[in-house]
Amino acid sequence: MSYQVLARKWRPGNFNEMVGQEHILRALINALNEQRLHHAYLFTGTRGVGKTTIARIFAKSLNCETGITSKPCGECSACKEIAEGRFIDLIEVDAASRTKVEDTRELLDNVQYAPTHGRFKVYLIDEVHMLSSHSFNALLKTLEEPPPHVKFLLATTDPQKLPVTILSRCLQFNLKRMPITLIEEHVKHLMQQESVAFDDASIRLLAHGADGSMRDALSLVDQAIAFGGGKLEVSEVQAMLGTVSRDRVMNILKALISGDAPAVMQCVVELSDLTPDYANVLADLLALLHQTALAQKAPDSVDENMVDREELQRLATQVSTEDIQLFYQIGLIGRRDLPLAPDPRGGLEMALLRMLAFRPTPEGQAIASATTAPPAATKIPPTSTDMPVTAHQADNTTQSTAQQITSNYPAVADTQAVPTAPLKLEDANWTGLVEAMNLRGMVKQLAVNCVLHEKSPTEIRLLLNQENEQLLNPAMHKKLEEALCNCLQQTLKLQIEMGEQQVESPAQTTARNQQERQQSAEKSIQQDPVVQALKENFNAEVVPSSVKPR
Ligand SMILES: [Zn+2]
Repeated sequence: MSYQVLARKWRPGNFNEMVGQEHILRALINALNEQRLHHAYLFTGTRGVGKTTIARIFAKSLNCETGITSKPCGECSACKEIAEGRFIDLIEVDAASRTKVEDTRELLDNVQYAPTHGRFKVYLIDEVHMLSSHSFNALLKTLEEPPPHVKFLLATTDPQKLPVTILSRCLQFNLKRMPITLIEEHVKHLMQQESVAFDDASIRLLAHGADGSMRDALSLVDQAIAFGGGKLEVSEVQAMLGTVSRDRVMNILKALISGDAPAVMQCVVELSDLTPDYANVLADLLALLHQTALAQKAPDSVDENMVDREELQRLATQVSTEDIQLFYQIGLIGRRDLPLAPDPRGGLEMALLRMLAFRPTPEGQAIASATTAPPAATKIPPTSTDMPVTAHQADNTTQSTAQQITSNYPAVADTQAVPTAPLKLEDANWTGLVEAMNLRGMVKQLAVNCVLHEKSPTEIRLLLNQENEQLLNPAMHKKLEEALCNCLQQTLKLQIEMGEQQVESPAQTTARNQQERQQSAEKSIQQDPVVQALKENFNAEVVPSSVKPR
């Protein structure tokens, strides 16, 4: 038996079998049930989201021998012939291949004649924006005075290119891109029906690769099944798509956050074994940075399809908002300039090293030079002059953005601490100390993730969770110790041990407070009498993620 591609084999035959696009289906089903029919419909949306599928089902609904119905029988000759693409009164045109005015005129010449078999003569014109202006005029003439037995179903990926005169005569439906979860669910369902073995990760990768198009998703699945010898396995799917596992990109980000250049380079070495598309690696890293920024500022908006939420939240507490913005900016420029690099891998490595070079956590010598630098707001930190990458950018706006981002950092050392009245060690708690030290960057992340274990007049012992281990290195340890001594104005020894924390760390407290404030903000919005009236009278809904605590 010959293999039939999934998209054709599982093409929906009626509205019930459609996946997604509920808002459009509801409108069409209601119109059919109430027999409120327009003479021209326009379906817009990107490729593979169901425009022509909906149009063909609609053509069945109009011509089914059981009567005009939202549930075409699928049994009568009209339904069957439409499904097989040989119904004489359904005239399908792909405008992408038929733009000459003669063709369209010839097509529309027959409009006046009554349908041969069906109730309606249905013209399905795909990619209608590709018609020539002469063809548009011919179409417009028909649309102005349409014969009662004719229906036009137009589809386009690019409605902007349609003349307003045509647009204004059509009932327009805008199809949405398919959400990844919906594609995943549908593909899983089909794989079960087809008895194809699969793992969830491979389906997720394929759904991502489809970029919102169900048809593309099914084509990718077809390919992956062939590639994997009848089953779907994540390693094979990765190899086929040329995608690098998200774990590897996550590892790069972790190494960047801990400021560990050798580890970053090691990640690249491991990556290069897979001969990836380096531009994609940068794109994946940018996407991950975007999600990390969301996790910090708007946790509800995090795309759960993309990353493990818990791991992301953990990362988000380990990196400053400014660093994320800086990495992102450098990554964007690095991606833009990648084609100019002598080789793509070198381009990626330079972009990653640049992220570390511009990062305002100067170590060793840099502290000394930074402390003597003038206030940051007026000047770029000294690291920028060491590596004048932005100065080479032709694009001035990019340059100034990068400068702005770097200049938002205080050039003064991370360990700056000027409490008005010196704190006393014996009556200080850890959260208070962390605040008083006024830390920034990595050392702050280290501090807020620790809890106080023991203290004596000459020593402070902290506990750090195993999962935040990468925050701790000798340089950061020393920096934190200096900051403590400065803040308390005494000599102290700092010990940091790994171990399970029994109390909430300052980072956890902040996260919890933020969550509580968000919840109470959402609650007060829900209880607001105006909001309640809107909900009752207009069927309005509050989008929780749009609520911001004051
Ligand atoms: Zn039928």
